[in-house]
Amino acid sequence: MYGLTEQDLELQQRARDFANTLIPYEVEAEMAQGELAHEVATAHRRQAIDLGLYATNMPTDVGGQGCTSLQQVLVQEQAGRVTNALGWVMNTPPSWWPDVANEEQRTRWLLPSVRGEMQECYAITEEQAGSDVAALTTTARRDGDSYVIDGVKWHVTSFNEAAYAFVQAVLTEGPHTGEHALFVVELPSPGVRVVRTPAYSHTIAHHHPIVAFEGVRVPASHLVGAEGEGMTFSYEWFRFERLMVAARCLGATERLIEEATAFARDRIVKGEPLLARQLVQAMLADSATELFAARSMVYETARSVDEGVNKLVLHGRCSMVKLYASEMACRVADRAVQIFGGRGYMRENVAERFFRELRVERIWEGASEVQQLIIADQLAKRGLSAMV
Ligand SMILES: Cc1cc2nc3c(=O)[nH]c(=O)nc-3n(C[C@H](O)[C@H](O)[C@H](O)COP(=O)(O)OP(=O)(O)OC[C@H]3O[C@@H](n4cnc5c(N)ncnc54)[C@H](O)[C@@H]3O)c2cc1C
Repeated sequence: MYGLTEQDLELQQRARDFANTLIPYEVEAEMAQGELAHEVATAHRRQAIDLGLYATNMPTDVGGQGCTSLQQVLVQEQAGRVTNALGWVMNTPPSWWPDVANEEQRTRWLLPSVRGEMQECYAITEEQAGSDVAALTTTARRDGDSYVIDGVKWHVTSFNEAAYAFVQAVLTEGPHTGEHALFVVELPSPGVRVVRTPAYSHTIAHHHPIVAFEGVRVPASHLVGAEGEGMTFSYEWFRFERLMVAARCLGATERLIEEATAFARDRIVKGEPLLARQLVQAMLADSATELFAARSMVYETARSVDEGVNKLVLHGRCSMVKLYASEMACRVADRAVQIFGGRGYMRENVAERFFRELRVERIWEGASEVQQLIIADQLAKRGLSAMV
């Protein structure tokens, strides 16, 4: 792609080289419920930190890499080339936090998270509140110098690895009754209980348990920002994470096209390589074209973040890139499985793994239909020329 600086290209290559060292561990992880030996997983995390590929989204004054949005995309794109979430060691802590973290939050959790010593998890979704976050029923009741949290959260990704959880809850008392607030809950804490840990389509070391918060008491200093600001942080995180989901989808798609093309070149059917067959060529041509379109959108959106374009406009654009890139990646994974034939149905095959793993990109951080609603809403409010 045009317009990458020398620094961008160097960072991209560094991330690519690191991702290439993770790829040989994929099948081992797949066959072991996503787990690698503890010392191997720890070494991967250490390497990501030492290579400057960790906390690329965090400002330098809290110890982060202070990368541009485009550079963050370049790194996450490479993380996306690796299956089984092994690329998640290039982690991005909550970038909205430094501006609102109080001193206790900063020293106890934020700075260690940026150093890679701790991991967070997010407990927002509930059984009856996913797309409609406003329907949350988890409550936070003020009691003296504390809040008491009660509710059950679903799909809490990385709970098994996390040192603390961000819990979003509805306030039951005071001037902000009925509004949302976000709290840091240290893990483990009295009253926090795993209800169960369901199995999911992908095979990764990060679990997504259902977690009950039963009379969990946290000091008032664990409130993030102010009462009533819970949704504000969610929106900011959605914009960031939707762009990064799209970036990882680009990486996955690139890998799928490269692997499927290499296979089609080597596989001889009736005396000719598959790559010479026009029906196979069409699948690869469509895939490469869609990747180019998606990459153009994602890089352009990252550049508009770096240019400081209006947040409301960015909100719509981040939805567009998440919608397009995730749907596109799933189409390409489906074609790649088809090109690999029976091999594409084996778990040791990259296309089989991506076929399962990419499906969730169309669901989490706002399902595709939710992105469509956001885009249509922005179109009605701001008009097409403000969006594209
Ligand atoms: C693997 C995994 C990890 C996750 N990790 C986390 C996490 O760490 N923390 C967390 O808080 N959450 C997490 N989630 C939850 C995720 O964000 C939600 O699943 C997602 O937002 C969709 O919500 P839902 O599952 O309740 O679906 P629902 O809201 O029940 O929606 C079901 C379907 O209806 C569609 N739909 C909903 N509303 C409308 C509408 N108005 N018009 C048209 N269609 C509509 C949706 O698009 C979807 O297709 C995770 C989910 C998964 C699968």
